[in-house]
Amino acid sequence: MINDETRNSPTGAPHILPPLPYADNALDPVISARTLGFHYGKHHRTYVDNLNKLITGTELTDLTLQKVISATTGRVDKAGIYNNAAQIWNHTFYWNSLSPKGGGKPPIVLKQKIESSFGDLDSCKKELASTAMSQFGSGWAWLVMNGDKIEVTKTANAELPLTKGVKPLLVIDVWEHAYYLDYQNRRVDYVNAVIEKLINWGFAENNLG
Ligand code: MN
Repeated sequence: MINDETRNSPTGAPHILPPLPYADNALDPVISARTLGFHYGKHHRTYVDNLNKLITGTELTDLTLQKVISATTGRVDKAGIYNNAAQIWNHTFYWNSLSPKGGGKPPIVLKQKIESSFGDLDSCKKELASTAMSQFGSGWAWLVMNGDKIEVTKTANAELPLTKGVKPLLVIDVWEHAYYLDYQNRRVDYVNAVIEKLINWGFAENNLG
């Protein structure tokens, strides 16, 4: 999985915007360069800028990103910090969950775990798609490892499953900003295209640990 110590500032503030793992037009036409330009260049960057502003002068400045998230989870007085920190983590994880060479079949170890958890790959993909569709409003659809089983789960807004005792394997962003320029209201077309053409099964397999 993404190593917090390498992907994000190892020493706390200032947190950095990690580089995209591909060119901004590499996911075209499923996700256009225009969408990536706004999504990575504006949304993701703004979460980083906001977090750095919000933690200035607080006891959170020395913490890594993941520790900032842990320290602020469920704290109403720290909701702004939590939301920005979690969104930085989620977006870095999302970029790595996609690949210009994605889609197709998972590598063998992941494939076997998917088959023992869902029956077959198709059932896993269908559950991931239906979960992504059923998230009302902004949020995320995840493939996670829960004990020995792979499961699909969803979270709202900035929430992430790190805090729920499961290990994230991959994620699909279903905030409207992820697809609106390319698909307008057709979330289903975005989700299906991502699963068929971009999903990075190799990244998910690496995250099995
Ligand atoms: Mn997003």
